[in-house]
Amino acid sequence: MRKGLQLFGQQMKGYLGSDVNLIGFETRTSSPVRIPRDPHSLVHPETPGLFPCGEGAGYAGGIVSAALDGRRCAEAVSSWIRARS
Ligand SMILES: Cc1cc2nc3c(=O)[nH]c(=O)nc-3n(C[C@H](O)[C@H](O)[C@H](O)COP(=O)(O)OP(=O)(O)OC[C@H]3O[C@@H](n4cnc5c(N)ncnc54)[C@H](O)[C@@H]3O)c2cc1C
Repeated sequence: MRKGLQLFGQQMKGYLGSDVNLIGFETRTSSPVRIPRDPHSLVHPETPGLFPCGEGAGYAGGIVSAALDGRRCAEAVSSWIRARS
């Protein structure tokens, strides 16, 4: 990181100096809200056919957990459709 910043300072004048602060933090990666869903059918309790899914719905916090939740929801949607046909 030290070497990278020195290189960056040579390429971008004014970004590196003794009076420069480097602040980098990630405070959260997932949704602050969670849309309710039945733990087994994954259907919203008041809206049949709605499957809250992934990060925006509050069920994932990254690429892998979003992918796994997406797969679970796809399977739940498939079962829900099959039960009605
Ligand atoms: C800058 C950045 C860096 C990240 N780095 C990492 C990392 O290094 N590792 C990690 O694990 N996670 C990382 N994440 C988090 C990761 O990207 C998300 O957790 C993940 O993509 C969430 O997947 P998702 O399927 O729930 O939502 P998304 O990937 O956001 O998918 C939602 C999709 O819905 C679509 N959509 C929205 N509204 C509608 C609509 N009305 N109709 C149709 N489609 C719609 C959007 O276009 C989008 O394609 C990062 C996120 C950001 C922003």
